[in-house]
Amino acid sequence: MKRVVLLGSTGSIGTSTLKVVEDLPGELQLVGLAAGGNVDLLAEQTTRHSPQAISIHDPAKIPGLKSRVATGVRVFSGPDGLLELATMPEADIVLIAIVGTAGLAPALAAIRAGKDIAIASKEILVMAGEIVMTEARKHGVKVLAVDSEHSAIFQCLDGKPPSSVRNLWLTASGGPFRKTPAEEFASITIEQALKHPSWVMGRKITIDSATLFNKGLEMIEARWLFDIEMDRVQVIVHPQSVVHSMVEFVDGSVLAQLSTPDMCLPIQYALMYPARAPSARVQTNFARIGQLTFEEPDTVRFPALALARRAGTVGGTLPAVLNAANEVAVDHFCRGTLSFTGITQTVAHVLDGHCVVSQPTLDEILAADRWAREEATRVSAEASQ
Ligand code: NDP
Repeated sequence: MKRVVLLGSTGSIGTSTLKVVEDLPGELQLVGLAAGGNVDLLAEQTTRHSPQAISIHDPAKIPGLKSRVATGVRVFSGPDGLLELATMPEADIVLIAIVGTAGLAPALAAIRAGKDIAIASKEILVMAGEIVMTEARKHGVKVLAVDSEHSAIFQCLDGKPPSSVRNLWLTASGGPFRKTPAEEFASITIEQALKHPSWVMGRKITIDSATLFNKGLEMIEARWLFDIEMDRVQVIVHPQSVVHSMVEFVDGSVLAQLSTPDMCLPIQYALMYPARAPSARVQTNFARIGQLTFEEPDTVRFPALALARRAGTVGGTLPAVLNAANEVAVDHFCRGTLSFTGITQTVAHVLDGHCVVSQPTLDEILAADRWAREEATRVSAEASQ
């Protein structure tokens, strides 16, 4: 029995994780659940899964939550609550699926407490990949990928060293605007951007999939997870989202991992690793899929890829700046105060203005994150006038 703490239990990845736990009774047990603001769903999940501890972001919501769960459940709140859960002595593995940067501190705390971590929140490795991976090696814990692309690469690599890799190939669906002419990009609406062709996901990642920033963040994430320099991390558009990613080895052989898209599969793989547990949830019918196609990404209509490559190649504090500026710009787009093309323009502007710190400490990364948020807020406000 693996004992699991789940941070972000009320979100898209969180609710899929609960399905996986329910699919595997006797194999996985939830000992801690954390949510942002959704008291109703957290209370319901607590009643159903009986974790020992739970946490809600806003401390004012503790009394309401306590009144709805069994008396023995420990209830925490805020960033300290996430740290309490991430370091619970009862836990074997901590799955982090919080949108934004709030997952970074709990990820480091879990590693230092000797827990394996399963990462959905890509912000963690984008911001502080070097620090997180160094700490994980020091404490002898595993960092497992939940993202379907990185799970695919992990499965294909199967322990082979970075020297055996010619290229990592991340597949991208291309998002809802794969065929949209460049001249229509400026007038893309939030409703159009939220219609992803292959995956149902949280709001922020869905917008990132439309700009291809999501793929850019994944490139940086892959660079750290697999210890491969950025120029060996490639992106190929694959609209069917059946090939989840590929590894091209130095001898020219290419291994890919395939299935119909369902996040329960990579979540289960991360939680059960190194075992493969039976599950009937994912069935892949190739005759029905018919064809698998691939095309070059269009870096002119989707400048996010080049911006992310630049941030990942320069390194230091630049990836944290990219991530924070994008988060602010997406927020402005969702509030209707920034155009779709304004997202990448804002990020490019903020990257240009940043004085990079190489080999940064965690404090320097967090300072760069704060600076980028202020700068992106200013640039987005100017762009909307
Ligand atoms: P959602 O927006 O659906 O869910 C976010 C979760 O984080 C919710 O449970 C939310 O709680 C919780 N949360 C937000 N802020 C806090 C906080 N300060 N403290 C505690 N909990 C908080 O996002 P997704 O599930 O789509 O994505 C989560 C992460 O996983 C992102 O980093 C994303 O990039 C990554 N990811 C997602 C994939 C997907 O298919 N969805 C695929 C691969 C990666 P509440 O709802 O209660 O406010």
